[in-house]
Amino acid sequence: MTDAASYDLVVIGAGPAGEKAAAQAAFFGKRVLVIEKEAEPGGAAVFTGTLPSKTLRETALYLSGYRSRELYGVAVHLDPLATLQHLMSRKREISEAEAQAFLRNFERHGVEYVRGRGRLVDAHDVAITTSTGERRVRGEFILIATGSKPFRPADMDFTDSSIHDSDEILTIDCLPTSMIVLGAGVIGCEYACMFAALGCKITLVDARPEILPFLDLEMVSRLKQAMDKLGIELVQNQRWKGARRVGDSIEATLDDGRVLRAQQLLYAAGRSGCSADLGLEAIGVTIDKRGNIPVDEHFRTNVPHVLAAGDIVGFPALASVSMEQGRVAVCNAFGFSYKTSVAPVMPYGIYTIPEVSSYGETEETCKEKGIDYVIGRALFRDNARGLIAGDLQGAVKLVVESGTRKVIGVHVIGERASELVHIGQVAVTLGAKVDLFIDMVFNYPTLADSYKYAAYHCLISLASHAAESKRSAPPRPV
Ligand SMILES: Cc1cc2nc3c(=O)[nH]c(=O)nc-3n(C[C@H](O)[C@H](O)[C@H](O)COP(=O)(O)OP(=O)(O)OC[C@H]3O[C@@H](n4cnc5c(N)ncnc54)[C@H](O)[C@@H]3O)c2cc1C
Repeated sequence: MTDAASYDLVVIGAGPAGEKAAAQAAFFGKRVLVIEKEAEPGGAAVFTGTLPSKTLRETALYLSGYRSRELYGVAVHLDPLATLQHLMSRKREISEAEAQAFLRNFERHGVEYVRGRGRLVDAHDVAITTSTGERRVRGEFILIATGSKPFRPADMDFTDSSIHDSDEILTIDCLPTSMIVLGAGVIGCEYACMFAALGCKITLVDARPEILPFLDLEMVSRLKQAMDKLGIELVQNQRWKGARRVGDSIEATLDDGRVLRAQQLLYAAGRSGCSADLGLEAIGVTIDKRGNIPVDEHFRTNVPHVLAAGDIVGFPALASVSMEQGRVAVCNAFGFSYKTSVAPVMPYGIYTIPEVSSYGETEETCKEKGIDYVIGRALFRDNARGLIAGDLQGAVKLVVESGTRKVIGVHVIGERASELVHIGQVAVTLGAKVDLFIDMVFNYPTLADSYKYAAYHCLISLASHAAESKRSAPPRPV
């Protein structure tokens, strides 16, 4: 082995986790190599997941005239072929641009980048298989950032051209008129809304009693009303026994005996880690039954110089968090006193129609933890910008601790919810009192101004909570 093939850090996988980890280590002067098996860097975030699905969402909203429906009552009739062609070309443009941004980031930081399949051949040595042969490199630290892939149950025939997983759904060549979506997690709910906005009749099935259980229940029920308005039939608390082709349709049978029929089916229930064929077992790295790699808080596997970050470590499997995990992994490994832990609370952005976004405590977690709280909400239909934009379904909801008046949770549904939530996130993170929003001047008209009115509502709730507490307090001894 020559020195030329030795690196401080070898990263396998150039998705968000690998990219940010590599750039972070190189920024602090480390010699870094990134190995990526696909033609371009970006991973699921750029090519099959985050960005393509958000591009489809924008296309669906734009082409269906969804945003202006409430304003002008315009029903737009889509040409399914033109819609799909438009989507595919937008998707290509966005992915291409973002992949180029990854490459520029590598170049800027002096990160070496190679296309090939990486595999550990012993504790520190990685074999890179390329179209022209194999070469080996050595890393003081190795970061596994190989991501995840859709989980495919054995009883589902994915060779059928009408049964898709969440990667394949973006390669369909015709907009379906009807679709069964199995799994109402984030991905299932997002695709259900997008295809419904494009005029597809959706039946969304979930085995759990409630969808998106980590969200504030009020937001879930507002979202369900919006889904209903989009024509989505939601079937909860039902397992499916499998699906099969019958003539021109796909049939899915539910536990209660109901048979659902549609032109196409999307299976969106879970993902598994891409840990196979990486040579991990041979060097003793533990892998769980979902293919994920357990790590400690420093993103070290049970073999300390082998790090893992991003979807491969499992929950929460978000691009946003994967990037931070990558940075934190290398900062800890090399002892940079910079970014040593991932923020304990993370925001959720769910790109349904409408968007839902959330940070911090919900009413339900307050009850579980015994936190004395009040809430305040402001509706977009009472907000000038909401009226102008025709967003009559939106709302901002604040959760405030009664004793301290601190904002401990913020929940937004509606246009730009995933952007608006960050105003509340800053307040929660800094331990701000609800009075902050009362004192701030907001641009007018803005949806952000809803924070002020949600805060006023909190003040009313706090006053009545105090009065209630006084009434129910035991008499003072005399
Ligand atoms: C439909 C959908 C929508 C999503 N929407 C959002 C969203 O709105 N917001 C959000 O934050 N997250 C979203 N996500 C999740 C997000 O895409 C992932 O969390 C993120 O891509 C994980 O990043 P990663 O770097 O861990 O893995 P990936 O992005 O999967 O990258 C892994 C890379 O490793 C490469 N690789 C694998 N094995 C090897 C090997 N042996 N050698 C070399 N290279 C290898 C792969 O080719 C890939 O490029 C979504 C996911 C899906 C599926």
